[in-house]
Amino acid sequence: MSIASVIASAAEFRAAGTDLSERRRSGVSAGPLIDILSSGESGIAWGVDGAATIGALTTIAAIAADAHVAAAYPGMAASAQGLATPQVRHLATLGGNLAQRSRCWYFRNPHIDCLKKRGSECPARSGNHLYGVAFDLGDCVAPHPSTMAAALLAYDAHVVTNRRDGLTIVDLLGDGSNGRADHALAPGEMITKIVLPAPLAGERAAYKRAISRTYAEWPLVEVCARAAIADGKFQVVRLVAGGIAAVPLRLSACERALHGKAANEAAIAEATRLAAIGAKPLPMTAYKLDLLEGLVRDLLESLAA
Ligand SMILES: Cc1cc2nc3c(=O)[nH]c(=O)nc-3n(C[C@H](O)[C@H](O)[C@H](O)COP(=O)(O)OP(=O)(O)OC[C@H]3O[C@@H](n4cnc5c(N)ncnc54)[C@H](O)[C@@H]3O)c2cc1C
Repeated sequence: MSIASVIASAAEFRAAGTDLSERRRSGVSAGPLIDILSSGESGIAWGVDGAATIGALTTIAAIAADAHVAAAYPGMAASAQGLATPQVRHLATLGGNLAQRSRCWYFRNPHIDCLKKRGSECPARSGNHLYGVAFDLGDCVAPHPSTMAAALLAYDAHVVTNRRDGLTIVDLLGDGSNGRADHALAPGEMITKIVLPAPLAGERAAYKRAISRTYAEWPLVEVCARAAIADGKFQVVRLVAGGIAAVPLRLSACERALHGKAANEAAIAEATRLAAIGAKPLPMTAYKLDLLEGLVRDLLESLAA
């Protein structure tokens, strides 16, 4: 192995650096960096079938402001518009958003060990986990921080890297059981683009977040919802929640309950009751389940209106 490839295998990519710089400053990230901002793919390309391919270096602001994206993938556009602050969105890239590291205050503290820093346990589990998961899927109780990952899961997007093609968001982020990693990228593996399927005929979508302050904060809970409604009935429904588990979570029981049902208040109320199925809240996180149910209900009502 050459010296260059040894350095590359231990190095961390830097896109806009909005996540990485904070970890460098606090000493949680050290070691060599590879700047990718001027050498990767950026921009949005449209296929003849209406499907979009988005370069990993495309900024969140560019996605949020693109009228074609808003028409084809309104849930993704709204997610991008609701994320962080105008300043962060202006710099932050889609690839960096998907690969950003945990926001857990124990992980971000250079003086505290945790599973993601080769420690033997999750200090948040026995400590302060007010912003932690309500679906306890693995050893680490920090929710996945990526708003765009939840939206891209709702849109069945695929991720392309310099080594692999056709990764689903579940392939990229795992099932939440591995508390030691935020994603399944190998050292030196770089996200190059994200491919979305063409939108369904007549589909609608929306996004909402519950947040502890107006903006400049990760959401407590967020949901991206898509629905194709024909003849007054839900045909296809996708509901993906963030902030509640170590990975963005599809609310499959709700989706199944709505399939083929009349798009009315009774069906929505019934499905909403299933939103928290499978939840296992921590002592401090049961409040997230009320927020989740409220968001699901609001979103479904707005899609059915
Ligand atoms: C106040 C504030 C509020 C925020 N709120 C939200 C929010 O609500 N939702 C949300 O999702 N985010 C939120 N963020 C986080 C922000 O969206 C991320 O910091 C940003 O998206 C990271 O993108 P970047 O290009 O700056 O990545 P960088 O900081 O450059 O990189 C982040 C990580 O990803 C890796 N990486 C970068 N690009 C690639 C690539 N192409 N392939 C493989 N690995 C890569 C880097 O090695 C690094 O580990 C918030 C940030 C702030 C400061």
